Amino acid sequence: TVKIGVLALQGAVSEHVKSLRASGADAAEVKHTDDLEDLDGLVLPGGESTTMRRLMDKYELFDAIKSFAERKPVFGTCAGLILMAQKIEGRTGPHLGILDIDVKRNAYGRQVDSFEADLTIKHVSDHYDGVFIRAPYIKSVGPEVEILSTYEDHIVACRQGRFLTCAFHPELTDDLSLHRYFVHLVEESI
Ligand code: GLN
Repeated sequence: TVKIGVLALQGAVSEHVKSLRASGADAAEVKHTDDLEDLDGLVLPGGESTTMRRLMDKYELFDAIKSFAERKPVFGTCAGLILMAQKIEGRTGPHLGILDIDVKRNAYGRQVDSFEADLTIKHVSDHYDGVFIRAPYIKSVGPEVEILSTYEDHIVACRQGRFLTCAFHPELTDDLSLHRYFVHLVEESI
């Protein structure tokens, strides 16, 4: 069984842990650098990316996660996607900058703060209930990135090698297919 950590500084943590366990992985919360040691993969959850970044710096997790990502799979959801992106609209410089995508934060505006959408996710599901909460979308992707899902002409899920990301909240639905896809990706990486 693979062991997957969930960054537990802020945001939707326990739901991810539950979904990973239900998908056949061991799961643990990550609050300190030591917690990364025995992990095969890592989830960066939704929440608020600037807050999460501040806490990553405070707990000295930023560099540790960056070097973890040089070797192991990472799945970023919503705010986690923003943390992984190489380019963020309106911001000088990325956070982790490990994924060749260009993102726009809070991309759906105030009127539609939160919504659900029936998505097709390549390799994963033909009908996936995407829960979007003050979600970003991906404006463009680099040549190594495989687009997995789009919604209204914008990219909302993609994969680049060992990195998986989505703009919505997979931990807030009962559908385990996307978590299972990440668990398989981690299994294949070891
Ligand atoms: N709007 C948040 C951000 O910019 C992301 C929202 C979420 O994770 N649900 O970080």
